[in-house]
Amino acid sequence: MLDSHALVLNRSWVPISTTTVRRAVLLMARDVAGAVHPETYEVANWAAWVLRGSFQAGRLRGIGFDFPVPEVIVLRQYGGFPEIQVSFTRRNVHRRDGYRCMYCGKRPHPDLLTIDHVIPRSRGGAHGWGNCVTACLDCNARKADRNLWDARMNLLVPPSPPDWPGGMDPDLLSARPTWQRFLPERWRRAAVSS
Ligand SMILES: [Zn+2]
Repeated sequence: MLDSHALVLNRSWVPISTTTVRRAVLLMARDVAGAVHPETYEVANWAAWVLRGSFQAGRLRGIGFDFPVPEVIVLRQYGGFPEIQVSFTRRNVHRRDGYRCMYCGKRPHPDLLTIDHVIPRSRGGAHGWGNCVTACLDCNARKADRNLWDARMNLLVPPSPPDWPGGMDPDLLSARPTWQRFLPERWRRAAVSS
């Protein structure tokens, strides 16, 4: 239970990361963060929290302690947004594109998706967010080693860096139903996976 995750909001209630329940509890105990009740949005400090009754996620129990698992915490001071870059991986490109082929719009099984370099690498195209898109195997084969013009193909969405926070694992975002109301729709899309 201590290794499950809590959603972290900055003091403006913008989600900035996920953390382990263990760390969330430490932040609360040091009064760096308060726990947000996911139904009522009430913020409880440490003292109030340990006296609270249980809801959805169950309770943490041990020798000398017994209190509800914090699912969402809000930082008291920090109002920023940590600049952690989302790592450029095939998986993250698929997440950014909502697991959709950026040419035909189909969403086959994620194993049947690949990465297409919009400007082929053989023509100097970069291997990065601005030049890589998700493609199905058919479209990838059809485009082959050509640019868009030569292949007479169009992109549904021009590629750009993803906009979910680097400190947040999109796969975790779908983990807790109670988190959903705190997350912008575009981050939830990134969480759609197999
Ligand atoms: Zn396609």
